[in-house]
Amino acid sequence: MAIVGAGFTGLWTAYYLAEAAPHLRIAVLEAEVAGYGASGRNGGWCSALFPASMASLAALAGRPAAIAQHRSMQASVDEVARVAASEGIDAQVAKGGTIVLARSPAQLSRARHEVAEARTWDRDESDVRLLGRDAARRILNATGTLGGIYTPDCAALHPARLVRGLAEAVERRGVHLFEATPATSIGPRLVRTPHGTVRADHVVRATEGYTPRLAGHARTVVPVYSLVIATEPLAPEVWAEIGLGRRETFSDHRHLIIYGQRTADDRLVFGGRGAPYHFGSRVRPSYDRDERVFARLYATLLELFPVLRGTAVSHAWGGPLGIPRDWCASVGLDRATGLGWAGGYVGDGVSTTNLAGRTLRDLILGDDTELTRLPWVGHRSPMWEPEPLRWLGINAGLRTMGLADAEEALTGRPSIVARVVAPLLG
Ligand SMILES: Cc1cc2nc3c(=O)[nH]c(=O)nc-3n(C[C@H](O)[C@H](O)[C@H](O)COP(=O)(O)OP(=O)(O)OC[C@H]3O[C@@H](n4cnc5c(N)ncnc54)[C@H](O)[C@@H]3O)c2cc1C
Repeated sequence: MAIVGAGFTGLWTAYYLAEAAPHLRIAVLEAEVAGYGASGRNGGWCSALFPASMASLAALAGRPAAIAQHRSMQASVDEVARVAASEGIDAQVAKGGTIVLARSPAQLSRARHEVAEARTWDRDESDVRLLGRDAARRILNATGTLGGIYTPDCAALHPARLVRGLAEAVERRGVHLFEATPATSIGPRLVRTPHGTVRADHVVRATEGYTPRLAGHARTVVPVYSLVIATEPLAPEVWAEIGLGRRETFSDHRHLIIYGQRTADDRLVFGGRGAPYHFGSRVRPSYDRDERVFARLYATLLELFPVLRGTAVSHAWGGPLGIPRDWCASVGLDRATGLGWAGGYVGDGVSTTNLAGRTLRDLILGDDTELTRLPWVGHRSPMWEPEPLRWLGINAGLRTMGLADAEEALTGRPSIVARVVAPLLG
């Protein structure tokens, strides 16, 4: 077995394969160090979110399959926590759920719509519920809160601790992890690296946002950057004002995504999209940092929680996530070539990678299971457009979402820009 990429996808796959088939010889090849990619730098939401909607999953494989995918995502949140505990990984996991605030009438109408839509997919009050103003503010006291949505299916965790701990766990199980070993080409039963060639019955591509660098994959996913800041540890009286007593993760219903968590050491970690997409799907370490985006994140944080005025930002970072053309993550194995893959998680990979790892185990061992019958298995997303269309479309989309939020902040009504322009961008 050869696995390219030592993020969560590659490591979960190695973990479950080594557990189920200890006789397998498994090599994980990593260009940098284990956890170098999005897995070591994300916002730490281990959630039941899947990037494609229930309706699009149902269109792929029918309603029961869409519901099964959601249930598998819920189970994955607990599975991540279970393995972290059983492997002695101190990933600082706290399953406090998620609150998504509604901070304008337009956001409130989206929240209501989302809960009504969830009910049509057999998702009851125990799965997702609408909160009134007071109930929402008891969890998270942000300015302008009119209500929100709460779901218990999310754990806050420390992603770098989890991914490094997982790398150690797979090595304990006899997996060979080769860091500083970039795959220069991936083909059927063969991976080439500058240090030598690996021959294997199965080769798994687990390279997510870095995938466009591989020959033949320039348009498989686009790398879109998400950036994050972390405050210094906050005093108990500040937390008494803000809330998040059970380390609930949080967001609101704006168009351009924001996300936050209270860490185990009482910092506020807060991230968002909005950094530009780079022409030709380029990925560079310098893109991880964008001072304008960091400043915007800090300003948004102060707008949400004025009590944070004067609080220092101790860390700031970012990284590329992978977006497929139809926003539907997928996992699969081509039996003819032995090539497997998983990815396209958009911003929902912390738990989905775990489901991918268990699914790749079953596919590679040839087991027909509930997991191998889920609708995302074997799904092939269309290719992205060639440049310059890709650059124009993605950056126009990012701009539109930013404008739509500004419009809603001004009018309080659902954005006309979002309704008219977004469908034109596809
Ligand atoms: C800033 C940020 C915040 C996020 N927040 C969240 C969140 O809160 N919740 C959530 O669920 N998801 C979040 N995500 C998404 C989530 O982190 C990813 O979906 C997930 O980590 C993907 O894991 P992966 O193993 O597939 O990819 P990665 O972790 O990116 O790993 C890919 C690995 O492959 C290696 N690699 C690439 N090319 C080669 C090659 N040719 N040879 C060898 N190795 C190679 C890379 O060095 C890298 O280590 C976030 C992402 C970012 C960037």
